[in-house]
Amino acid sequence: MNNDEHNEDYDDVSYLNFLDDSVTPVTADKIRQATGNDPTLKKVFRYMSLGWPRKISCASIVPYFRCKADLQIDHGILFRGHRVVIPTIFRDQLLRELHTGHLGIVKTKSIARGKMWWPNIDGDIERWIGSCAACVAVRAAPPRAAPAPWPRPPSAWYRVHIDYMSIHQKVYLIVIDAYSKWLECLLMDKGTTTRALICKLKEIFSRFGVPNVIVSDNDIKINSAEFNSFCAMNGIRYVTSPVYHAASNGQAENSVKTCKKMIKCIDKTDKSKVEDKLMGLLFEYRNTPHCSTGQTPASLMMGRNLRSRLDLVIPDVNKTKDNIDKCVIDNCRKFNIGDQVWVKWFTEKKEIWVLGTIQNKIGNRMFLIYVHTKNTVCRRHVDQMLMYTGGEFDVINETEDAGADEDSWSPPLEPPPAPAGSAPPAACVNPPPSSLRADSPLQADVQPRDVVSDEYDTGLSGEEEEVEEREGSRAPALPAPLPRLGRVLRLPGTGSYN
Ligand SMILES: [Zn+2]
Repeated sequence: MNNDEHNEDYDDVSYLNFLDDSVTPVTADKIRQATGNDPTLKKVFRYMSLGWPRKISCASIVPYFRCKADLQIDHGILFRGHRVVIPTIFRDQLLRELHTGHLGIVKTKSIARGKMWWPNIDGDIERWIGSCAACVAVRAAPPRAAPAPWPRPPSAWYRVHIDYMSIHQKVYLIVIDAYSKWLECLLMDKGTTTRALICKLKEIFSRFGVPNVIVSDNDIKINSAEFNSFCAMNGIRYVTSPVYHAASNGQAENSVKTCKKMIKCIDKTDKSKVEDKLMGLLFEYRNTPHCSTGQTPASLMMGRNLRSRLDLVIPDVNKTKDNIDKCVIDNCRKFNIGDQVWVKWFTEKKEIWVLGTIQNKIGNRMFLIYVHTKNTVCRRHVDQMLMYTGGEFDVINETEDAGADEDSWSPPLEPPPAPAGSAPPAACVNPPPSSLRADSPLQADVQPRDVVSDEYDTGLSGEEEEVEEREGSRAPALPAPLPRLGRVLRLPGTGSYN
């Protein structure tokens, strides 16, 4: 123990006691007298003179029993070591006097330990000072409790924290999603009325949906009947964090700091178009892994990262252009020059199917077809064509009067193919990857016969040679490839069938 300090304290207390003449001091004589009248101390005296038992069951005696080796009697006063054991009736008065200087618990205890003792004197000192109104009034606020962490919400946009941020005479609305850390920062250009707030929130909610919970500070501007009504009408639970305990809305608080930093960074470089530049910084924030989640707000919010200029440095392995082509071609019925096909023939009354032979290909899905019975060439879309799976053309049929048998003709196949865009017919064959040269639409369209023949048995022999010959001969005859848009462009002259 620091004796100097102790004496100093003691002097203070003595001085104060000296000034307080309304209290008669507790003297050794008084203690001697009170000790003789104290029922507990009388028992202790008796034990000390007659000898202590092996065990003590009386609760009031137990503390003395435990320190019986330290106890001694001098001139009718009980001592524990050098300290006077204070009879019960003087304890409160001495507590009051010990605390006359309104010193703290530690100092008060140290003063007491130098002079007096009774069972649980330390506890009594603590209780006494703790109940001192004067000390509580001037006591510093207790250290701020660590904010209780909000439970992690079950999904994105479940609980959002909102707050206002004032900077450079402008007020912004900060909205942060607790799950994804997706951050919104909107300029409150129409003031901070509840109506304006609801308007901004509606703007955000229109994109991301209505959250289950909104948390805000107990801000008077937000906490209004109108806002509560807005929340109630939309099934939102509105939670205000405790007054003056901003850390409870820590999510928004941190976001305010983040946004302020963003705006200050903008100010350093260019003061014009702050909101415009803020968008860019928010974009970067949303696309950067957040320290608390390890993932980008965008990926947690959208299920994907946002494409940015930085993505341009990464080669796109899924070269979408080629993929689209491949997809279109794979899903498209396969026809080759020379194939025998059923083609739709349009009369004034109805549509019929007639036999033809593909003469040429004009684009991904358009063909020039020679129609035998009409002895003419027409343009047809793949949706107006069916592969002929029979043997050689029946010459008799072909030479019959078209007008007479047109009505009776129907393709011996499945129903006419579904319109473009629907599921491909079962006859569509997916060629092996090696057969597709995605970098050239002409090559990609060429279907080796050995593949096609699995489904379309033309009954022809020497197919391999035919393919070779066909490819070699037709390539120069084809028009330049069309722009590949995944859809058929209307070609000049295709409007007139027949
Ligand atoms: Zn006090």
